[in-house]
Amino acid sequence: MILKEREISIILKKLYALDGRMYNDHIEKSHVHNDLQKKLAERRGEEAVDFYLQFLEQDFFHFLLSIRIPDEQGFFQIDTLTLSPFFILILEIKNWRGTILFGDNGQVIRVRENGTEEGFQNPIPQAYLQRYRLQKWLQQRGLNNIPIYTMVVISFPSTIIKSITQQEIPKEVIHSNQLNFRVNALADKHEQVISKDDIQLIAKQLIAEHTPEDKDILSAYNIRANELIKGVICDDCSYHPMIWHRSKMFCPKCKFTSTNSFLYAIQDFSLLISNKAKNKELRDFLQIDSPHIVKRLMQRLGFDYFGNTNGRKYILNNEVIPNKLIH
Ligand SMILES: [Zn+2]
Repeated sequence: MILKEREISIILKKLYALDGRMYNDHIEKSHVHNDLQKKLAERRGEEAVDFYLQFLEQDFFHFLLSIRIPDEQGFFQIDTLTLSPFFILILEIKNWRGTILFGDNGQVIRVRENGTEEGFQNPIPQAYLQRYRLQKWLQQRGLNNIPIYTMVVISFPSTIIKSITQQEIPKEVIHSNQLNFRVNALADKHEQVISKDDIQLIAKQLIAEHTPEDKDILSAYNIRANELIKGVICDDCSYHPMIWHRSKMFCPKCKFTSTNSFLYAIQDFSLLISNKAKNKELRDFLQIDSPHIVKRLMQRLGFDYFGNTNGRKYILNNEVIPNKLIH
């Protein structure tokens, strides 16, 4: 049973918004675009593994998808945490495609379909470190002697895993379609050592401590707000700015009209610049001249605000804004 879903990460939302608001000739454009593609691929890889979780006995196995927990050293992040009466299992998910070569010096090399090679950090010690940090977290809560296992799951069964030397491929590394078999085989070797109450307690505490990663994305890429594309962007042809016409947004290029395109622009503002905005700031970003129209729009949409007329700031609550990241 899934006790915590995999939310769309705030960093992914910010990268998506930033990519859509950068001019193609911006020096950081390809950097941002590539990082976005990487994050999207990571998410697709995680979803491919999530598919197989439903085939495990749901009364026994409980899943926390994508958790990030604070500890003395900062945060530790686990792609999929499986809690069961038998053991705790950490899944480190890798969305690698092509051929993956494990060297005996701990090196991991990916060879893409086009023959290019890329080195990676070995995911096994990475998973061991997460295990160590989780173990410490459990001990601090009086939960000792819980067996914790790790598996590195390659999302796509078509990925070829090889060993450079004569040694075997590390046994912790599996394809997603082997997951059920391997987890059940592991469960068969174990007694039930974790009570239902403890499982619930651990899950509840971890969910409460889960802290999604967030950062100021503009400063992360050294981009200034005034370098961003302004205006409401047409959903149909990407032209900007759409113009306000007869209570709708209208695209002068392709004639597309929309009653909610400006919501995406407000979302971009909230993700990239600030989650609070004055009427003047919104006018500038949305490229709508009239303060009255912006005021009416914000009221109609039910955005809260604080401060009096001139200093009034709207709170750009994400719940009011539909999510554009659908795939
Ligand atoms: Zn258009």
